[in-house]
Amino acid sequence: MNKLSDIAEKLVVQHHLTAEEYAFLIKNRDEKTAAFLAENARSVRESIYGKDVYVRGLIEFSNYCRNDCYYCGIRRSNDNARRYRLTAEDILACCEEGYALGYRTFVLQSGEDMTFTAEKMADLVASIKARFPDCAITLSVGEREKEVYALWKQAGADRYLLRHETANDAHYRLLHPQELSLKHRKQCLADLKELGYQVGAGFMVSPPGQTPELLAEDMVYLEELAPEMVGLGPFIPQKDTPFREEAAGTLELTIFMLSVVRLALPTVLLPATTALGTIDPQGREKGMLAGANVCMPNLSPMSVRAKYALYDNKVSLGEEGAQAIEDLKKRMESIGYHVVTARGDHASHVLASEK
Ligand code: SAM
Repeated sequence: MNKLSDIAEKLVVQHHLTAEEYAFLIKNRDEKTAAFLAENARSVRESIYGKDVYVRGLIEFSNYCRNDCYYCGIRRSNDNARRYRLTAEDILACCEEGYALGYRTFVLQSGEDMTFTAEKMADLVASIKARFPDCAITLSVGEREKEVYALWKQAGADRYLLRHETANDAHYRLLHPQELSLKHRKQCLADLKELGYQVGAGFMVSPPGQTPELLAEDMVYLEELAPEMVGLGPFIPQKDTPFREEAAGTLELTIFMLSVVRLALPTVLLPATTALGTIDPQGREKGMLAGANVCMPNLSPMSVRAKYALYDNKVSLGEEGAQAIEDLKKRMESIGYHVVTARGDHASHVLASEK
């Protein structure tokens, strides 16, 4: 045994490492360790969620954003972005189509578009819930006040995705303008947890400035927060952002981090992201085989897909809803997994609702 395999073994057995151990593991990773972690991540995932793949219908309902994150294609100062917002009727029509295709979770994602006021969002959530009471609603619309999150919870929202992006203040500063703070982002995540949402934190793999030590800080933060979901995909440059010339994150490191996250948080709901499918045609299958258990195909109307351009060359721009789920089903069957029609709640929430 050497130090690397000892640490990998510890992660598999104890589901916990110190910051120093995470950093060592990530810095010194090799093919053998990656294969060992992927195999164990897969077996942990299968012991909890079997071979089921949960699907979420992703509705990107507005690309207006008040923020100016340096990595993101829909940042407010990108004058080349063709802005759009869907109406409540458009969004309900997407849900209708998704429901018929077997989706039982809808993810409503947007930039921070303040024309969707607290009340307007609450009405939207309530009308989706009224029409599809057996479905879960996930919101991913950024940072708001606790009272607003509470109102949306009351209206029927079940889950909330808000990647923390990086758990290190100086790195947060490198990726975001002065008016945004890690402190506030973390406060939002704490508020969402307290309100009883199933919460998703997460980060990009290899945005500018990221090091193994910083990834280790992300892992320590995730262990502390214990989110029900983790969103994790490669950084991909977008041509109209300050980071246009930076390199994209690799498939290899993203897959490695998926395994690490699965082992640190065994019950986590972990998507193989669209960004992963963008950097490699088999990215989502590879993600599944390394511990992921969720996919989020795009249900947005075809007319707006290309406009939700967080990064360049995004996949699934050309697939109708029906085609996307059929394609995904085949891809998952090819690796022995099955797309299921289910809300796909976090294991702890399933147990709580059965009590
Ligand atoms: N506005 C909401 C928020 O801040 O959480 C949701 C939308 S935001 C565009 C969703 C996620 O996209 C971010 O958390 C970020 O990690 C990811 N993202 C943005 N630009 C990206 C890029 N260039 N490459 C990969 N992921 C990116």
